[in-house]
Amino acid sequence: MANFNIDSTKENTYDAIVIGSGMSGGWAAKELADKGLKTLILERGRDVKHNVDYPTTNMMPWEFKHRMQVPQEIVEENPIVSKCYNFREDSMHFFVKDKEHPYVQEKPFDWIRGYQVGGKSIMWARQTQRWSDFDFEGPARDGFAVDWPIRYKDIAPWYSYVEKFVGIAGFKDGLPNLPDGEFLPGYDLNCVEGYFKEKVESTYKDRNIISARCAHLSEPQPIHLEQGRGQCMNRTLCQRGCPFGGYFNSNSSTIPWALKTGNATLRPFSVVHSLIYDDVKEKVTGVRVVDSESKEMIEYYASIVFVNAGALNTNLILLNSTSNRFPNGLGNDNGLLGKYAAFHNYRARVSGRYDGFPDTTSLGRRPTSGYIPRFRNVYKQETNFLRGYAAGFSAGRQVDRNYDGVGESLKSNLLNPEWGGWRVGSHMMGETIPKESNYWGIDPTQKDEWGIPLLKVNVDYDDNDEKMVADYIEQLTEMFTMAGFTDIQSNDSKQAPGLDIHEMGGVRMGKDPKTSLLDKWNRMHLAKNVFVTDGACMTSTSTQNPSLTYMALTARAVDFAVKEMPKETT
Ligand SMILES: Cc1cc2nc3c(=O)[nH]c(=O)nc-3n(C[C@H](O)[C@H](O)[C@H](O)COP(=O)(O)OP(=O)(O)OC[C@H]3O[C@@H](n4cnc5c(N)ncnc54)[C@H](O)[C@@H]3O)c2cc1C
Ligand code: SF4
Repeated sequence: MANFNIDSTKENTYDAIVIGSGMSGGWAAKELADKGLKTLILERGRDVKHNVDYPTTNMMPWEFKHRMQVPQEIVEENPIVSKCYNFREDSMHFFVKDKEHPYVQEKPFDWIRGYQVGGKSIMWARQTQRWSDFDFEGPARDGFAVDWPIRYKDIAPWYSYVEKFVGIAGFKDGLPNLPDGEFLPGYDLNCVEGYFKEKVESTYKDRNIISARCAHLSEPQPIHLEQGRGQCMNRTLCQRGCPFGGYFNSNSSTIPWALKTGNATLRPFSVVHSLIYDDVKEKVTGVRVVDSESKEMIEYYASIVFVNAGALNTNLILLNSTSNRFPNGLGNDNGLLGKYAAFHNYRARVSGRYDGFPDTTSLGRRPTSGYIPRFRNVYKQETNFLRGYAAGFSAGRQVDRNYDGVGESLKSNLLNPEWGGWRVGSHMMGETIPKESNYWGIDPTQKDEWGIPLLKVNVDYDDNDEKMVADYIEQLTEMFTMAGFTDIQSNDSKQAPGLDIHEMGGVRMGKDPKTSLLDKWNRMHLAKNVFVTDGACMTSTSTQNPSLTYMALTARAVDFAVKEMPKETT
């Protein structure tokens, strides 16, 4: 048993335990419960019930005391989380505040978190692009990290499975580097985005502009109505939680679905401290939980454990799961637990102005934007850096509203704004190369108020990232110039890693237990009833927003766990 002195009480035994109720934990819970396993969902934060606990969802702009701006004193108290574009007066209650949960930054890292039922699935930007074999084959082809133990064909049916349930709006673009999925009707590009698409696709044989696929119900299907979700109304107030369930989050979809089966139990306020490894049985028998309010330590038992606490917290839990057999963290014989951490490089932006389409506006809303799939180093190595970047792209008409006047004259001024030119903008989504020197670890001296060591973070950009930023700015500037955009400006924010909110790695998948922690089913090589299917499992990062891949890997791993693992009692 473990080597610390906190009383724990044997309380409950389940078939399966899921740690975390966010994007990936919600999927683990839904799948396990659907397959008939008595499943305990442990969530460190409070419960957030769909609709009931979205306090701002129907508020009008004038009902916000600060007109949706975060008050200055809150910004000053929260220098990290207030950097996130979605930390706003209408949504800040879903974000972890800087002082609530400290961590150690050996190098600057902006850790953006949501500790509640639903995790960060409440506040995400809903972008959902599949990976292709250009991504899964990347490490083997380009000689970094280790080879993925899976290929696109292994996960493709699970992308489809997840997409049908989640509801993804998109077009069949027929691109080999960004495979099509099971799409609801997509959201059209506007006229300037469409114009840029035409120019780019007729100029470059390998570059495309598409409408970004997103987790919105543009046309709900029976499976979505069964979840109690309805049509997306394009309010674009998703960060508040959507009253219609128009976008996917765990709160409107997977968690209530799991609970409805009668097989799942949700326990909020339950901070998982560590996994219990039984040296005699040679397996994990359960988890230790600290009740976040009473601070009582409780043990829960199960034959299968899914660790879905979000990449960094999953690393922390496993590193803190020490035993006689695994003194350096669960399954960590090779010393690689926490290492080969990675993220996405979101530093660069290029913007410009377009003077065409003077008679057209971009009034109206849509919950997504344009997307430029990766074009660098796809088919062959062509630059002085490895891998590549995708980009978000959007165009909008500038509008100058006149707030002068009172009564009729004010109304008239507001209804007849001055239209300016079109602004176009793009932001980079770059792949970073996982390296042994980039790691998440545990601080040897400091603990939080639940007796858990603080996480320490030591990740940084490298020369490859610097070259990629320079290339992004050069290429996007060239493409904008070619399209006749003017006033082109570029910017390298030099932001610390973390703000991309795509942290990955530390518990990577691989073929060989000597060089990886998880097998091709996301099962720990050395603790075969433990599965990790959040960002921690990622062997490399690709350029696409990763959550769709976490969800697909989760559904696939549960299917394997239930079919292949003997149902043992602990
Ligand atoms: C503003 C924003 C925009 C984003 N946009 C996109 C996007 O467009 N596309 C995309 O793919 N991704 C996006 N993301 C990232 C996406 O939200 C994450 O990839 C995804 O939520 C990760 O899922 P997860 O299950 O690993 O973690 P989470 O969703 O964070 O869930 C982890 C859960 O575990 C709980 N937990 C943590 N530690 C413990 C513990 N010790 N014990 C018990 N419970 C614990 C947490 O409280 C949390 O509820 C965005 C994120 C943000 C914040
Ligand atoms: S854009 Fe769609 S999903 Fe988002 S809040 Fe509006 S209706 Fe809901």
